[in-house]
Amino acid sequence: MIYADNAATTKMSKTAIAAMLPYLEDVYGNPSSLYVTGQKAKEALENARVAVARCIGAEPREILFTSGGSEADNQAIRSAAAIGKKAGKTHIISDAIEHHAVLHTLKKLEAEGFAVTYLPVQENGIVDPAALEEAIRPDTCLVTIMTANNEIGTVQPVRTLGEICRRHGVLFHTDAVQAVGHIPVNVKDDNIDLLSASAHKFHGPKGVGFLYAKRGVRLENLIEGGAQERGLRAGTENVAGIVSMAAALEEAVGNMAQNSVRLTHLRDRLIAGLSDIPHSVLNGDAAQRLPGNVNFCFEGIEGESLLLLLDDKGICASSGSACTSGSLDPSHVLLAIGRVHDVAHGSLRLTLGEDATEADVDTIIEAVKAVVAHLRSFSPVWRDLCAGKTAFIL
Ligand SMILES: *Cc1c(COP(=O)(O)O)cnc(C)c1O
Repeated sequence: MIYADNAATTKMSKTAIAAMLPYLEDVYGNPSSLYVTGQKAKEALENARVAVARCIGAEPREILFTSGGSEADNQAIRSAAAIGKKAGKTHIISDAIEHHAVLHTLKKLEAEGFAVTYLPVQENGIVDPAALEEAIRPDTCLVTIMTANNEIGTVQPVRTLGEICRRHGVLFHTDAVQAVGHIPVNVKDDNIDLLSASAHKFHGPKGVGFLYAKRGVRLENLIEGGAQERGLRAGTENVAGIVSMAAALEEAVGNMAQNSVRLTHLRDRLIAGLSDIPHSVLNGDAAQRLPGNVNFCFEGIEGESLLLLLDDKGICASSGSACTSGSLDPSHVLLAIGRVHDVAHGSLRLTLGEDATEADVDTIIEAVKAVVAHLRSFSPVWRDLCAGKTAFIL
């Protein structure tokens, strides 16, 4: 099997698995308990906080452990909205290609009386900093723009966006779930006030993540209960998961430079190979993109059939994101970069992991070429295109 869906989730690293075992088998105490095994768990939790903070240039007290990226996004946005509301500011700025954890939270806030501006992206999937600056109003309380997109891999100019927000005194949140552990992220250098991350996107376990909140940014808790996480997130901590996440992140950050060079080379080989397919297009910026991300549209086919046939050949891929597949609507991200419905339906996302090889990439290229040709051979849409009855878009 070739696993090329690392944007959906990653395989846990051996280091991350080994790190969690002692906290499942031996040190299983509740970190809030006063006896030794509880206190050992507490100590492990705080060591993990120090490690995670160091990996993104934060202070340990600025890190809040959550159940993952979605929870961190919800809490960051709701907290900033609450701060804004107290000051009479109820305008939020985001963009059209955010993850649903962000978009659906914003929809709820709109229903609660907030106004949201969704900045368009350019055809390469990048937000124009000048457009952000223009959209900021006196009542803007929050800008939330992701660091890297989960579908098309586009990396936003976060430092510039953050600098604009800081200059205007507006809080800046970034969903960095696809970025943390893959590309350099430093909350201080990048002018970030709030940041979300998730362990299972960097070879840690599922169901655990963290929220960075700059000192002085007051968080609202989403879950009421005990006083864990300084009262900001009730519930007994996922000690084994948190310890494992910290180990996975330290490993990912330690290997980032070399992994990134290797993955970028493999990514570009894959892009070059798939570009040979006629009437296809690469989605997202060719250079400003995550090292392992490849996303194409092929005219005249359905992405879903493509995935099933690739699965038959032992290749795990995705069309759009895992969250939207299963629904018939084309990806909001592909529509936002200007792909029309028919083209957006024929999309394929391949996200390579650190253990991918050149041979894997070549196997994928051959498989995709064969499957696209096969599907086109009996596609009525393709027949009409070739007969000139309808015009090619790509
Ligand atoms: C995966 C993902 C999330 C959700 O993270 P979970 O830990 O699965 O809740 C949010 N944003 C982006 C960009 C993602 O890729």
